[in-house]
Amino acid sequence: MEKFLKEFDFIVVIYKVVDNEIYFCEVSENFYTVENIAYDVIDKRLIDVFPQVIENGIYDKILNVYNTGESATFELNFGNCRYNYIYKSDEDFVKVAYNEKHLSKSEELEMIINNMNSAFAIHEMIFENGIPIDYKFIKINKSFKKITGLNDVIGKTIKEILGEDSNVWIKLYSEIFTKNKTLHFEKYSYIFKKWFLIDAYKQNPCRFVTIFQDISDAKIKERQHLDIINSTLTASYLTNREGCLVAANDKGCEYFNKTREELIGIKMSDLFPPEITEYKRKKSLEAIFTGLPVYFIDQIDDQYFENYIYPILNDNGSIEYIAIHGKNITEEENIKKELEKAKISAEKSDLLKSLFLANMSHEIRTPMNSIIGFSDILLDKNYDNTNQEKFLKTINANATHLEELINNILDYAKIEAGELDLELLYEKFSINELFEELEDIFIDINNKKNIDSVNIIFEKRDDNDLIVSDFLRLKQVLYNLISNAIKFTENGHIRIGTRLKDNIITFFVEDSGIGIPENKLKIIFDKFVQVDASSKKEHQGTGLGLSIAKSIVDILGGNIWVDSTQKEGSTFFFTLPLEESQHIKINQPIEIEYDFSNINVMVLEDIPENYSLLGIMLKSMKVKINWSVSSTEALKIFKDKSCDIDAIFIDMSLSNTNIGNFIEKLKQIDEDITIIIISVTNMINIKDIDFQIVKPITKEKISKILNQFY
Ligand code: ADP
Repeated sequence: MEKFLKEFDFIVVIYKVVDNEIYFCEVSENFYTVENIAYDVIDKRLIDVFPQVIENGIYDKILNVYNTGESATFELNFGNCRYNYIYKSDEDFVKVAYNEKHLSKSEELEMIINNMNSAFAIHEMIFENGIPIDYKFIKINKSFKKITGLNDVIGKTIKEILGEDSNVWIKLYSEIFTKNKTLHFEKYSYIFKKWFLIDAYKQNPCRFVTIFQDISDAKIKERQHLDIINSTLTASYLTNREGCLVAANDKGCEYFNKTREELIGIKMSDLFPPEITEYKRKKSLEAIFTGLPVYFIDQIDDQYFENYIYPILNDNGSIEYIAIHGKNITEEENIKKELEKAKISAEKSDLLKSLFLANMSHEIRTPMNSIIGFSDILLDKNYDNTNQEKFLKTINANATHLEELINNILDYAKIEAGELDLELLYEKFSINELFEELEDIFIDINNKKNIDSVNIIFEKRDDNDLIVSDFLRLKQVLYNLISNAIKFTENGHIRIGTRLKDNIITFFVEDSGIGIPENKLKIIFDKFVQVDASSKKEHQGTGLGLSIAKSIVDILGGNIWVDSTQKEGSTFFFTLPLEESQHIKINQPIEIEYDFSNINVMVLEDIPENYSLLGIMLKSMKVKINWSVSSTEALKIFKDKSCDIDAIFIDMSLSNTNIGNFIEKLKQIDEDITIIIISVTNMINIKDIDFQIVKPITKEKISKILNQFY
């Protein structure tokens, strides 16, 4: 300070800034006389001593110098002084020197140059044949000496000072003349071991000015921060306190589809839509005020982003940078949502299952009670045979109902295990044939129900063409739909028919019954769903019929849906795609001819009836057969060198045989033998099986295996 005062004939004031408030820290002696102030101003607030600084903008100017580090000169009355120069010193203080007397412009400039923090130099370019080859130092300021450590340079050329190392600088500055450019760049100097931020411009045809700062400290810090943000997998940015981007990693540039150069210096808030910026700004402020990291998720259109905002403190403990890490977590969020949905649906299905079990016990008990009760009466020694036929009819009806229930449950189990499609049995038949069978069943059922107020109409087809499908499964779908129609229709009609268009056949079952509420139209095809699931419900049922129908239609390649109006009736539709091969004219019957005469198999079966069924099928497919009734006999045949059997059919129910052991022994004799197991369920636990046929055995199942293997 003393040195400062001796060198200059100015008033000098040093301010400090605490919590955005400017305080007097030190003042030169002449301050009190010039400003005519009799009291001690040290540690007093600037606005208390000079209240007018708020109004004339000086207060903001000082703060701006403090915040940006950029010096400022202004002609405004500041106390009794008009010409003021403010700059930020090395410490965190703002020094203000304001002159008492009016300086000439050049004097003023001189003062600024001499007192600025940046190095300043005027050079003269030396040309040879119009090409810049060296430059001379004409003028330098104090900061130049301080920053470069070079004192005695005036009149010397850069080559004289740096030797060969000067070439790089000459080349750089030559562009000011050859390309007529103003330069602004950062450069590391290996000679000075410093980073410089340099501005250079042409003063006249052979002179140029350089102004530069030592930015090594900032560079080191920036490098460290860059290393940190570059090591993250997220899109990462570094902003200063004002929210301007100072660094971004590759992912961060990618996100905004901009280069790093384009991004640096831009305010983060200019990169996002205003509503998002406002939210992010609040979160950044939270990080700044608390000094703690802030985490939040935000949504832009249909994308989700996870954000971390970390305040980075400088050595004094105040915030210097803000690091922002953003990651697109849309995929994770969507998976989370799906899982949530799946969880809810699993809980719902669990609840439905419990309801189903409660319902089932009721559904099974009702017919069971009837069967047991009436058969007890019939068996009673004292029973006099009155109403015998009526009782037997009741028992029969209940037993039939029970059978239906059990079939439904078994089908449901098969659907759940994904087995239903394995069992499809395609054959050719006419729709009228199918309708006639259903008609017989339902006329009978309707008669038993003693309802004559419901008219069941089967619309037969005129063409009587054949289709290829699974007759029994198709019948089951229609059976379920018609049973429901009968169940939920008190009077009116039930109409069953078909429409053929574009090789798709649509079946419909229309009724004039109670109808279905609109909000249930889609879910009634889900398993266990019933419109009225209460224990006091009027109609019997398990909630499985439609879900089984839907599964079968799905497997057959069609769709099922319903149109319904409450109190007016419902129409269930389902389609079957008819490939050319499946829609066959009646006068072109097809009979599949199998010829597996090159295949030699053994059938290991101890029950002659079973053997004969399989034997007949295999023979009709021209397969050569050896029949063996025991595993010992079979092994003997295989040991015979001349045996050329390709495959063996083994019935799981073979008595007195450990099939696992037998297969092991057989494989030791003939490791290429194909093992085909015949069983009643597909749940068997035996090693080394090539194929499995679940009963009932059909030619299609056998041919599928023989075709696949050979
Ligand atoms: P359920 O064994 O209960 O009949 P379904 O799966 O066959 O099971 O049917 C589910 C529910 O859909 C039924 O409980 C009933 O509420 C409704 N529903 C099915 N068909 C009809 C119909 N033709 N008219 C009115 N409601 C029906």
